[in-house]
Amino acid sequence: MTKDAATPDLLMPRFVIQPEEAESMGEDLGVADLRDLLPMLLPAARKLARPPISGFHVGAAALGVSGRIYLGANVEFPGVPLHHSIHAEQFLITNAALHAEQGIRFIAVSEFPCGHCRQFLQEIRSASKIQILITGGAGGTSGDFRPLSFFLPNPFGPADLLPEHVPLILERRFNDLSEVEENREICNNGLGLVDERLREAAFRAARASHAPYSGSPSGFSLADSGGRVYAGSYTESAAYNPSLGPVQAAIVAYLVAGGGDDGGGVGEGIVAAALAEMEGAPVSQEETARVFLSAVAPKARFSAYRLRPSAGVASMRRKN
Ligand SMILES: [Zn+2]
Repeated sequence: MTKDAATPDLLMPRFVIQPEEAESMGEDLGVADLRDLLPMLLPAARKLARPPISGFHVGAAALGVSGRIYLGANVEFPGVPLHHSIHAEQFLITNAALHAEQGIRFIAVSEFPCGHCRQFLQEIRSASKIQILITGGAGGTSGDFRPLSFFLPNPFGPADLLPEHVPLILERRFNDLSEVEENREICNNGLGLVDERLREAAFRAARASHAPYSGSPSGFSLADSGGRVYAGSYTESAAYNPSLGPVQAAIVAYLVAGGGDDGGGVGEGIVAAALAEMEGAPVSQEETARVFLSAVAPKARFSAYRLRPSAGVASMRRKN
């Protein structure tokens, strides 16, 4: 290596590094294999963390098969239960999914992944082969990448519950959902431009949601005062509890795009939000979303929309 961690590029906190930039960073640093950049980016990733409760900053970085590098960090929300928190590894994978990344083979994390995150990573196909390097925690993995199967042997995961053909995280999917008639009442009251875009973004996120275990796909969107809209999809885990809610996924999208950067709380700049979920689904996000918003973005107005599987409801689609 020709430079050390003082290299400005490495220290610049940002959530995505494009392939060309990653290549040029590798050349500048004399790093032949881009996976070796990942641990060098962790100080920058840790700076992106928002842990007002624990004060404990965790950073993660991953190299996608596209050549893009993604960063992730932990995010905590005062005023709501801890299960609303976003772990750095979940942030990382959600960030990759937002950019339509199709595969992750190498990950570096500043601390040993908790059990929850080891489980969440199982939702990626061939997860056991993902190579992970840890820098913290009494020497970490001593500079070596180790397969996820080293950290979580004998895993329980998608293969235990789903047929092989069901798409997993980072794989293309389309939940064929339509609006229910009742949504029209909300729309007839006259949606403003931002609310219309929020509604559409929440629908799109619900259609992309990975919820094969409960059959309850959902999407959440939020808008800032500049009218920019960010959305995230509910992402389930075979083990249920490590699932990432659509609200948290939308917060990831918001932070990745530079939102929440005004020095206040994460939710301070959020002015409106929308949820789209299946009517009568066994898992509902609505009340959780209300609780979250009331604590994190209390000024945000909120709308909830209902969806149904498209098959058999063609006559109930809006015609205008
Ligand atoms: Zn974790």
